[in-house]
Amino acid sequence: MNTTVVETEEHQALRAAVAALGKRYGRNYFAQVVAAGKHPDELWADAARLGYLGVNLPEEYGGGGGGISELCIVLEELGAAGCPLLMMIVSPAICGTVIARFGTEEQKSAWLPGLADGRLTMAFGITEPDAGSNSHRITTTARRDGDGWVLTGRKVFVSGVDIADATLIVGRTEDARTGRLKPCLFIVPRDAPGFGRAQIDMELQAPEKQFELVLDDVRLPAEALVGDEDAGLLQLFAGLNPERIMTAAFAVGMGRYALRRAVEYAKERTVWQSPIGAHQAIAHPLAQAHIELELARLMMGRAAALYDAGDDAGAGEAANMAKYAAAEACVKTVDQAVHTLGGNGLTREYGLATMIVASRVARIAPVSREMILNFVSHQSLGLPKSY
Ligand SMILES: Cc1cc2nc3c(=O)[nH]c(=O)nc-3n(C[C@H](O)[C@H](O)[C@H](O)COP(=O)(O)OP(=O)(O)OC[C@H]3O[C@@H](n4cnc5c(N)ncnc54)[C@H](O)[C@@H]3O)c2cc1C
Repeated sequence: MNTTVVETEEHQALRAAVAALGKRYGRNYFAQVVAAGKHPDELWADAARLGYLGVNLPEEYGGGGGGISELCIVLEELGAAGCPLLMMIVSPAICGTVIARFGTEEQKSAWLPGLADGRLTMAFGITEPDAGSNSHRITTTARRDGDGWVLTGRKVFVSGVDIADATLIVGRTEDARTGRLKPCLFIVPRDAPGFGRAQIDMELQAPEKQFELVLDDVRLPAEALVGDEDAGLLQLFAGLNPERIMTAAFAVGMGRYALRRAVEYAKERTVWQSPIGAHQAIAHPLAQAHIELELARLMMGRAAALYDAGDDAGAGEAANMAKYAAAEACVKTVDQAVHTLGGNGLTREYGLATMIVASRVARIAPVSREMILNFVSHQSLGLPKSY
């Protein structure tokens, strides 16, 4: 396993190449796409063509043969350039990983080459209105129907269902032996009869929209089930660790972008004798933000290295810690960046105020700050549970 805290030359080269792509598009491109209610299709297609979107997927299916270590570099650098691609967390990271690790040969051939070259996109639905953070309480249920399945339930806040060719839905099946419900993953095509979606009116300004989903007796063929009916939990966790690590990359990238804008401004803006960046009340919080983003990035690299080395359990703790640290650093950095710009921090022209909402996403999703603190309290420190 690569446990080095210094990046390899390959990773540095990947970082530089992705940063160059991000710079070609930049924040203005991204802001225009959002304002027009569109998606960053051109950037998505270019990133795919250059092999960045599928960098973690197996080579025999058109991917780059790398891991989450490489994929999180891609997301972080695009975010640092002002173009955070939220669907990367879902499509190649969660869905691509789960299918590559547990899918049947048919599922791999059907999905992986398309996810890698950008022709196909997948969403991921686990959150339910009455379960929320308590995913043990999800009630979306799959019943056997001849050779296939019938899926019934509701999901909420699922991102990108409108642009995704299919959604990987976490449901439950009844254990024939014990009668207990166990988690299972199903590939549900966008146009499957009975699969309804309603867009949620979010304050978030981003190309990806969130949806409430209704699964009203959605009939699926046997091959819609991913992997093994009895190994659903293991398969689910295999996808959730990349999700947390990639959310850390999303947050670190966004934080770096906001910090760069604030530093540039603080070097130029002069209202007394020297630029405002010379005042320690401005400089120190920016220095703290830089330190906290770097620390979060270090933990992100560790989590990715453990995951790529096949240590799912070790990666679990590190992935949670990385997501926590990155989200907190991102929220704090964006807040300080807006403040550094004074009144300009709230103008459309400078475009930073909208990031106050965007930065909160990483604190809430895919698992909230409190649920990570619960995880560390119980799993790492052995403290008792309150719930
Ligand atoms: C922009 C965005 C995109 C998303 N995309 C997706 C997606 O693609 N797919 C998907 O499945 N989901 C998605 N989600 C959903 C997201 O994962 C959930 O919002 C998140 O898991 C929290 O669930 P909840 O909103 O139901 O909050 P709740 O579970 O209702 O929690 C509300 C508050 O209570 C706190 N809380 C709850 N339980 C405890 C406890 N035991 N101890 C202490 N505090 C507690 C939480 O920390 C939180 O602050 C997205 C959410 C957002 C905002």
